[in-house]
Amino acid sequence: MSNEQKPAATAESTLADIVSHAKEYGFVFPSSEIYDGLAAVYDYGPNGVELKNNLKQLWWKAMTQLNQNVVGIDAAIFMHPLTWKASGHVDGFSDPMIDNLDSKKRYRADVLLEDKAAEYEKNGEIARAETLLAEMGRLLTAEDLAGVKQLILDEQIICPVSKTGNWTDVRQFNLMFSTQVGAVADDSSKIYLRPETAQGIFVNFLNVQKSARQKVPFGIAQIGKAFRNEIVARQFIFRMREFEQMEMQFFVRPGTEGEWYQTWKETRRRWHEALGLPADKLRFHDHDKLAHYAKAAVDIEYEFPFGFKEIEGIHSRSDFDLTQHQNLSRKKQQYFDNDINPETGKPYGNYVPYVVETSVGADRLFLATLCQAYQEETITEGEGEKQQTKTRKLLRLHPAVAPIKAAIFPLVKKDGLPDKANEIYNSLRHDFRLVVEEKDSIGTRYTRQDLIGTPFCIAVDHQTLEDNTVTVRHRDSREQTRMPISELRSYIGEAVSLSRIFEKL
Ligand code: ATP
Repeated sequence: MSNEQKPAATAESTLADIVSHAKEYGFVFPSSEIYDGLAAVYDYGPNGVELKNNLKQLWWKAMTQLNQNVVGIDAAIFMHPLTWKASGHVDGFSDPMIDNLDSKKRYRADVLLEDKAAEYEKNGEIARAETLLAEMGRLLTAEDLAGVKQLILDEQIICPVSKTGNWTDVRQFNLMFSTQVGAVADDSSKIYLRPETAQGIFVNFLNVQKSARQKVPFGIAQIGKAFRNEIVARQFIFRMREFEQMEMQFFVRPGTEGEWYQTWKETRRRWHEALGLPADKLRFHDHDKLAHYAKAAVDIEYEFPFGFKEIEGIHSRSDFDLTQHQNLSRKKQQYFDNDINPETGKPYGNYVPYVVETSVGADRLFLATLCQAYQEETITEGEGEKQQTKTRKLLRLHPAVAPIKAAIFPLVKKDGLPDKANEIYNSLRHDFRLVVEEKDSIGTRYTRQDLIGTPFCIAVDHQTLEDNTVTVRHRDSREQTRMPISELRSYIGEAVSLSRIFEKL
């Protein structure tokens, strides 16, 4: 391959490209595909599970390793049913839905309006978009469902399938899945699959505070599955019925929540940028509809191929959740703060802490990472008459989250080169996830690794047998560097280290 490379031209990729790439290269499969799948449920394949685990580990360490005052838990999915009464999910965890009478398709009323606003925004009608969203927020806050329907009619929104505006009334639809615990199925045995991980944190607030000897302000982090019977399953793993959340509840002294909200808002945005989501593809979006107890709420949105959409929510939730649990459980959820209040000269004393929450979906983050990494570029290879231009697909994943860190290629399947390749593999496998590939031409092997985002390929040739050096080929630049085998560990280690991300936080 020539080292003279023309600058790469990137092509706009669509969600369909991402979905087929994810399936073909072992990242994401439709669930139970042999039975034609199950709507809005997906399985992660061999490369997908590695990428997802790496993203989760990055989040976990950024929370619990970089902050002495953030500790983790792993709460059960099933919780006492009163949990969901206290949190408001039994009575209020619903989305406004609307059906089109001609196509029989069901939609989320707020999503129809948001899509309309996005259309205005795309056409440069920013003020019109903002007015529409504000009006929607007002109607939803007032729970004026007839008003929401009227707004849909006024905006002349039609069903994309039937192309008509023949709509039913707007109704609320509870998103929680329920099941029965024990052998007898009656109302008393009804339990829910948690629709968010946060409540497992709230009900353990005092257990954690005491056992981990934490002082307010401190946080509790958790990664786990959540379940929502989403009305409309669309956009691949963006909206699933079974998904994974990474949530952190940060408990603070009342009155300090504003500062902490700002701090976490900025910290979380920096985290996404450090991972490789570019600043111009991220934005903050303040909530149009604020829950009655909420002080502030903002979404971090990423520009997916289908537009800017939420990947993470940051919420200032007051003492709502802990107070609700205190009321229903009749167990005090108070903290005694013995720091001295300069205004009174006495300890702050007992209070129910306020909470600032950061909540990011592991699957949405995965999708954003994949969309960002997936690129098609035009490259020129060879020299003189042999020069040719072709398209290359690759995943420009941050090396720290790539499923495989390096692939080792013996140039030929003889002369002891495979043995040498395996020797290198064995000397590095404790540190990195590696593969040895012998099959096909070296160019084909490079291509295969580019497609799954492997940052380095190590070629073992006849010179290696003489002087213990190898050629390291870089995924993004396709440049090749000759180096001693003894330097591989520190060279790869430096590139794939999480510290390179943490330094930017
Ligand atoms: P949306 O408005 O898109 O339904 P939400 O505001 O209800 O999302 P939250 O309750 O704030 O979402 O949940 C926090 C995070 O969990 C979201 O930012 C998202 O990343 C993730 N999440 C929520 N619902 C889903 C889902 N159905 N599939 C995948 N991820 C989800």
